[in-house]
Amino acid sequence: MTEGVAGIKRGREKPIRNQHPWIYSGAISHAENAADGELVTVVNHKGRFLARGYWNSQSQIQARIMTWRDEAIGADWWRKMLSRAVSLRATHLTHAENAAYRLLNAENDFVPGLIIDRYADWYVLQALTRFIDQQKSAIAAALADVTGARNIYERSDVEARKHEGLQPAKGLLRGGPLPDVVEIDEGARYLVDIKKGQKTGFYLDQRDNRQLLRDLIRRRRAESRERIKLLNLFSYSGGFALAAGQFGELHSVNVDASRPALELAERNFQLNGYDEKTHGETAEFIQADAFDYLQHCVRENEIFDFVVLDPPKLAQHKSQAQRAARGYKHLNLSAFKLIQAGGYLMTFSCSGAISRDLFQKIVFGALADSGRQAQVIRQLSAAADHPVALSFPEGEYLKGLLLRVF
Ligand code: SAH
Repeated sequence: MTEGVAGIKRGREKPIRNQHPWIYSGAISHAENAADGELVTVVNHKGRFLARGYWNSQSQIQARIMTWRDEAIGADWWRKMLSRAVSLRATHLTHAENAAYRLLNAENDFVPGLIIDRYADWYVLQALTRFIDQQKSAIAAALADVTGARNIYERSDVEARKHEGLQPAKGLLRGGPLPDVVEIDEGARYLVDIKKGQKTGFYLDQRDNRQLLRDLIRRRRAESRERIKLLNLFSYSGGFALAAGQFGELHSVNVDASRPALELAERNFQLNGYDEKTHGETAEFIQADAFDYLQHCVRENEIFDFVVLDPPKLAQHKSQAQRAARGYKHLNLSAFKLIQAGGYLMTFSCSGAISRDLFQKIVFGALADSGRQAQVIRQLSAAADHPVALSFPEGEYLKGLLLRVF
């Protein structure tokens, strides 16, 4: 089959030259032989080569660019891109046994529409677009070549596939059988449910921030033996509270709306041997709406030394940014009211539609209403296995602040 061609309108090629990987229908003048889920050569109005990418007329983003060079996208290309991604992680992450990290971060590793996460000896592939969906077995073969991966599972059960005209898909691609949970080690040990857990099973993007909380708790412990109270809101499987453990005399309150998430959190506490007898660690697991739970804490005048606020994406789209902003403000306002003077708030937004600047303004608005004072100790973002392509600002979805509160 001959490769299709997508022509770009005169005056619309600048973003492509600037290496933005998305081409919307409005920029396209004509298409020849372009088939959904297949490669296309992207040319300017004079017919000159601009890039090579893949086509889907059913998506708002009609083409996504794989390369700006006139090169073939075949087995060698997949191996090259995967090797690059592997070497980045090898340089920037300390690999323990049972390591877990994002091996390939889609557009940000220059492979639009593909996510690969690793959990110990399991690799989880997520295909977000039609072309990637059709290339699954070629990708699995290249992944096995480059990493020696034996077990590959697909978790392509995400909303975003609807925009591509695709159904959700999940199942074994290679190896197996997949156990109910896979154990990973990040300093603390966690059980990951690859088949049914959120995302591909774990929030890998928060690794550095969990480590930062761990360091803060360790230092606080070195200063004083007093019991530390941590409120871990939107706790999922206990990520932050488990990272904070091990230094003794910690009480964590873990709140999530999901029962399976909290069950996993409890199992994770047991797995790490965090209990009252050995470490003096105590934990509560509360299934509740975190908005309501915060109100309850404010009413009861509860006080915590550390609060982690890691809500799900409140804005799915730019049009929801205002509503989301009210949600973030509400959460942060309540959180400020609960923090011991000299305590810390770690607050996040993973909405791509809320910029870092806007997020800081929202948190400031909450602070002003709370009558508290706060200092920014650090700007927070995702770990190095979630790089952001400089030409793709959309890639920076996770932003956060570490605040000291008085
Ligand atoms: N901090 C976690 C990740 C949080 S992801 C970690 O480090 O692993 C967001 C979590 O919020 C999910 O576990 C989801 O179940 C939960 N959630 C979504 N809406 C909620 C709500 N209204 N109240 C409480 N939890 C909610």
